[in-house]
Amino acid sequence: MIEVQNVSKSYHSKKETTHVLKDITFSVPKGEIVGLLGSNGAGKTTLIKILCNLIESDTGSISINQQSVNHKNKKALRYVSSVLEGNRNIYWRLTIKENVEYFLGIRGFSKKEIAERLNHILMKFELYEKRDKLVKNLSRGMQQKVAIVIALMADTEVVILDEPTLGLDVVSNQIILEFLLEIVKEKDKTIIISSHDMNLIEKLCDRVFIISDGKLITDSSVDELLDLFKVVSYHFYFE
Ligand code: ATP
Repeated sequence: MIEVQNVSKSYHSKKETTHVLKDITFSVPKGEIVGLLGSNGAGKTTLIKILCNLIESDTGSISINQQSVNHKNKKALRYVSSVLEGNRNIYWRLTIKENVEYFLGIRGFSKKEIAERLNHILMKFELYEKRDKLVKNLSRGMQQKVAIVIALMADTEVVILDEPTLGLDVVSNQIILEFLLEIVKEKDKTIIISSHDMNLIEKLCDRVFIISDGKLITDSSVDELLDLFKVVSYHFYFE
């Protein structure tokens, strides 16, 4: 479903060159949920932006559903929806209902179809009660939920989430986690989630990639990673 081959990326300024991604290669089969881990500045957002075709890699290639991802070919993006840091996929000055209406509209639904679907979507995702609230007045957890709902409305095969619980309080964190658990239960989407939240990764993901110093240093199942953590912490505490 997603093929990443030898991707490298550097940022250049007058003073320095930062080599952020170094020869990253991986593949994610259809239906798999992958967690992307790494310390601050490891390159997770950069990789996600490349996958979403927002920036181009310096070398290497990416394909999604056998369509190559680059600035000349936007076809792959029809299979992808994303929620990037800062919820740039929703309008903060519109209400929840207006956001849903707008995004159904730009996806080509007629006024009649929008009227038919609107309440169903709002109720399905438990947003109906709050439908007339401006997004900017919602809690961060609710804003994040709306951003994920809007992304999921496209019903794409691939979903990419950058730090979906970043900065959320415990309750909002739980809301997003439960919401995502519902989505992954259906097992019909290929999902990449970047996060520092090990609880989220453990509960949602099948496999984990760790990026360190620009390289992909771990590609393992969540169980293997947890076993490794147990061994490391055993040695740390008892030896
Ligand atoms: P975090 O977990 O803190 O969000 P990250 O793993 O998502 O980090 P990136 O945001 O991809 O990391 O950043 C990787 C490195 O690239 C950092 O050192 C960052 O300062 C640098 N960087 C990111 N974007 C740019 C840019 N547009 N120009 C120059 N350097 C950048």
